[in-house]
Amino acid sequence: MNKKALIYIEINNNIEKVSKEIISKINTLSNDIEIDGVVISDEMTIRNNFDELKQLKLDKLYLIKDNLFDTFQTCLFANVLSSFLKENNPDIFLMGATENGRDLAPRTASTLDIGLTADCTELQLDENANLLATRPTYGGKMMATIISKTKPNFATVRPGAFKENASAAGLPEIIEAIPAINGHEFLIEVLKCEPKPQIEDWTCADVIVAGGLGLKTKENFEKVYEFCQITGAKPAASRAAVELGWAPSDIQVGQTGCSVCPKLYIALGISGAMQHMAGITNADRIIAVNTDKYAPIMQASDTAIVADACSILQNMIDECTVNR
Ligand SMILES: Cc1cc2nc3c(=O)[nH]c(=O)nc-3n(C[C@H](O)[C@H](O)[C@H](O)COP(=O)(O)OP(=O)(O)OC[C@H]3O[C@@H](n4cnc5c(N)ncnc54)[C@H](O)[C@@H]3O)c2cc1C
Repeated sequence: MNKKALIYIEINNNIEKVSKEIISKINTLSNDIEIDGVVISDEMTIRNNFDELKQLKLDKLYLIKDNLFDTFQTCLFANVLSSFLKENNPDIFLMGATENGRDLAPRTASTLDIGLTADCTELQLDENANLLATRPTYGGKMMATIISKTKPNFATVRPGAFKENASAAGLPEIIEAIPAINGHEFLIEVLKCEPKPQIEDWTCADVIVAGGLGLKTKENFEKVYEFCQITGAKPAASRAAVELGWAPSDIQVGQTGCSVCPKLYIALGISGAMQHMAGITNADRIIAVNTDKYAPIMQASDTAIVADACSILQNMIDECTVNR
């Protein structure tokens, strides 16, 4: 094991799911690299999450603890993380492209004067275990695989881009690292923290039913909600449907929306533009309903039904109502 990958494990009350998704992914890439994690948090939060942290499939887990870290602060966290990275010297460094990750990563990269490939949807290693980080580019028209020339090869990863492998448990060596806070200038004083309303994570529901422009009208789109209410499936939308005001942006699937990982994704009147497909690569099964048998989503789906999506949706509702 000569090469070493380090993953920033973000905790906001609980361990962020994307941190576990990154650990699962990197473990599938090679048996020959050391995979470590680093947490920056306060004593209480680490204690509350310790049982789960001990189960992560890592070789080593570094805990950087201080009660100053009970609230995320970009400059403070970036300084502490940069000092740790200089000392730890990993070859690859990954973090989730969460709200905090998107803030912390560029500041850390600029402090260390290294490159950053942001918001990746695919990770691979070359034969020398250098990171090949893939992300959409040119407004999502192409996927670019980027090889960083600076060390560590640093990338952030989109939440939901990879599946979390819950069964993969490890017993990492736990190492307490001393935070480098001395000399840090506190430019920000946090006055108050408001907890974010907890939004149910619908992205890995068993069944997601998504509607697109092929549903023709907002009234037809509302039948997606009706079906979901009857069956417990979760509703989703293409960006075009969101832009028309048929659905809120937080249920948009795709490159600029959410990545989903359901057992079944039903796409009603969605063409399957590349930007939409980027959000459903982890769906186990796709059923597409489209009047155009050559629509890209029909080629990518497990079952392609050439039909009017509105009639099929109405049939689905009728069938489920009768069989209730
Ligand atoms: C930078 C960028 C980011 C983007 N991000 C996203 C994103 O995150 N998510 C996303 O979805 N899009 C995204 N887009 C937009 C994307 O390129 C497409 O424009 C969008 O996905 C199209 O939505 P749609 O499939 O609903 O509509 P359309 O492309 O118009 O497709 C409608 C489909 O419905 C079919 N149809 C028509 N009538 C019927 C009927 N009666 N029954 C059944 N089928 C019918 C048509 O054959 C067609 O295939 C992005 C674009 C850019 C440039």
